[in-house]
Amino acid sequence: MARHNVGIIGSGPAGLTAALYAARANLHVTVFEGQQPGGQLTITTEVENYPGFEHGIQGPELMDVMRKQAQRFGAQSVYETVVRLKPQTQGFILTTERGSEYYADAVIIAMGASAKLLGVKGESEYMGYGISACATCDGFFFRDQHVIVVGGGDTAMEEANYLTRFCASVTIVHRREEFRASKIMLDRARNNPKISFLLNTVVEEFRGETLSTGLKKMTSVVLRNVLDNSLRDMPIDGAFVAIGHQPNTKLVEGLLDLDAQGYVITKGKSTYTNVPGIFACGDVQDAVYRQAVTAAASGCMAAIDAERWLETR
Ligand code: NDP
Repeated sequence: MARHNVGIIGSGPAGLTAALYAARANLHVTVFEGQQPGGQLTITTEVENYPGFEHGIQGPELMDVMRKQAQRFGAQSVYETVVRLKPQTQGFILTTERGSEYYADAVIIAMGASAKLLGVKGESEYMGYGISACATCDGFFFRDQHVIVVGGGDTAMEEANYLTRFCASVTIVHRREEFRASKIMLDRARNNPKISFLLNTVVEEFRGETLSTGLKKMTSVVLRNVLDNSLRDMPIDGAFVAIGHQPNTKLVEGLLDLDAQGYVITKGKSTYTNVPGIFACGDVQDAVYRQAVTAAASGCMAAIDAERWLETR
């Protein structure tokens, strides 16, 4: 019997784990690596919470190893971005930005999500050098230090509370007085003695310096009070931008059922979407956990679901 083709769109922990499992199941696997091969972990430094690495591992190295592991069983990487996914009577046609067309019997969606950023001066320069978009990933590096969290939703409250485990103080900077965060999360932050609030305040700029080691370091943040437009330069050790995530689901808008925030809806505890033959895993369908290990686990589930679905065809 001819081997089935599985197209995997996305190459973070979800996509590459799906590739590993599908390739080991003797499926013909093509991974479309997209604009950021390796996904969000390639823009982090040290990953200390991925099981199996006692002393941690650099994000880019972890993704490189995952890719090689999948390739050892025959998975192939295509360094292109899928711009169209079209169901056929049987299977799917995937078109890349270069106009190449690929056929797949089943498709695994693993395009991930992207943290929303403020877009202010100094943000991209000091990202990873004092600025982070993930407290679970980087909070540990700010032990006994003073940090800010930008945002007024549940993520900001959760990250602020989490950071108080390590940090000396956490200041939540929010652009207005009302919060999007649920009452319980907000109360928890308000009752935490290490957390204080700066309301009606926005970040105008991140400032920093280059250390004698040659490394950059963010050292202060310029804040603007939106009521009187006054500016202040606040010295700070770290800044966590927590203004939400954006699932990368543009490709499947109008094809797959998405929730109000744009995440792909999967059925029950499975990775099945509303379109038979398309499975979704990783951050593209997970607004809650968003961890490398949970993404990898759901990638495994997607490969098993796809394999079993193909067997029934
Ligand atoms: P939200 O969209 O709920 O909140 C984003 C926050 O960031 C808002 O306060 C918003 O301000 C602010 N913001 C957005 N853009 C900017 C900007 N450019 N400058 C300054 N501030 C900005 O996103 P979350 O990630 O917090 O939550 C997403 C979903 O995930 C929610 O449904 C939430 O309930 C859920 N979640 C649940 C958790 C839990 O239950 N444990 C934990 C984390 C998330 P403004 O309000 O003025 O628009």
